[in-house]
Amino acid sequence: MPFAALGLPQPVTKGVRAAGYTEPMPIQRKAIPVILSGRDLIGAAQTGTGKTAAFILPILARLLAGPRRLRALVLTPTRELAAQVETNARDYARFTSVEVGVVYGGVPIPPQERMLRSGIDLLVATPGRLLDLHNRLALRLDYIEVLVLDEADRMVDMGFAPDLRRILKLLPTHRQTLLFSATMPPDLNQVAKEALRDPARIDLAPPSRPAAGITQAVYPVPRNLKTELLEEILSRTDVHSMIVFTRTKHGADRLARQLGRRNFSVAPLHGNRSQSQRERALGDLKRGRIQILVATDIASRGIDVEGITHVVNYDVPHTPEDYVHRIGRTGRVDAVGDAFTLMGPEEQKDVVAIERFLGRTIPRVLLPDFNYKMRPRELAISVRSETERVRPKGRGNHAGAIHRQTGGAHRGSTAHRPATAGDHGGSAAHRSGGPSSGSFGRRPKHVRGVDRRRGRP
Ligand code: AMP
Repeated sequence: MPFAALGLPQPVTKGVRAAGYTEPMPIQRKAIPVILSGRDLIGAAQTGTGKTAAFILPILARLLAGPRRLRALVLTPTRELAAQVETNARDYARFTSVEVGVVYGGVPIPPQERMLRSGIDLLVATPGRLLDLHNRLALRLDYIEVLVLDEADRMVDMGFAPDLRRILKLLPTHRQTLLFSATMPPDLNQVAKEALRDPARIDLAPPSRPAAGITQAVYPVPRNLKTELLEEILSRTDVHSMIVFTRTKHGADRLARQLGRRNFSVAPLHGNRSQSQRERALGDLKRGRIQILVATDIASRGIDVEGITHVVNYDVPHTPEDYVHRIGRTGRVDAVGDAFTLMGPEEQKDVVAIERFLGRTIPRVLLPDFNYKMRPRELAISVRSETERVRPKGRGNHAGAIHRQTGGAHRGSTAHRPATAGDHGGSAAHRSGGPSSGSFGRRPKHVRGVDRRRGRP
């Protein structure tokens, strides 16, 4: 479903496209029509769900018409969130004449006063600084038509309830109020009763489960060998199309260059790429012109490319929700896919957090014949230690658990085998051949050789 189908006007949908979004996220699908209708809204949603665009886009639609003055106010608990919301709002508003501003504490007031005097339509603010500025007569709140309380539970947690009440008294009673919050503690419920009228409610539970068709594996590896390991995995795996996630834009660019130099057909996708570059990269992946997209999390949401066979977390994502989003790029609908996570020693705790969130362990996998340049004992520890801490009760021994989870699951990934406690007692990483049958220990032939690296044959 395109954004325009939600009733957003063209300058706004153009801004959304330029931001790189192709499809609305669930909260946007649900909230935007309600907000456009003028109704109050309580959205139970966390950061990461796309809630900022869910409220900013319909607000921009409203601000396109009507007088130029301060008509929309977004309150956030922290300056970081305020700055982030403002950045997003400017981004989405770039094809409109709507002026966006931000004010928060901890920085000098005079520049903010000057900015407010220059005339803005939409202000993002933390409550304390907003009141300070109001006391200094730097702004008027009498024309506010829409109020957003963003991360309202955190605002109440941080002791802002009295400030919120003060601000509510300064606003016109005839207005639209939107409240976004992950939880609804009693104090907030009280504020909500005072602030909202007959609100619609949207409950958006965070995704907690990857689709059933996704096979997951964690590859413990020293950080400096990640690229080499990835290359090995690529050369031993039948990859149709793959998204590799990095934490930073810079990291995405660097990895894309490295893989490009090694003759893989690859493109980077992140927030610093122009809209046309992003669209081209996605289109090329869809059409099979490139095999690998190296992306930051911006791409983990909203990408809906059919037939992605592999997702690789080159860096372990910051949050379990990001993990679920990322690996959700493969195995879409009823399809199947593989999701590999390359785990440096310092990333073990993040993987454990993911496993707790999922309520299951993800099998650790060592690549046979790959030179890990680690002592066998270090290798054993990196494979075993954290897995055991989250091993579901009632499982057999560690090795058995991993075998059960991984055995035969890697379609086309014949080179992989489950790591087992005994495997790395010797120099497992260098071993060729061994007691296990099948492909274990054998370096499989290159699947369709070089052809696979340069687009589809
Ligand atoms: P938020 O929950 O507002 O912090 O948004 C989480 C992330 O999702 C941000 O990085 C947004 O840029 C991104 N995002 C928001 N809407 C979309 C969309 N429709 N498609 C792709 N990414 C989106």
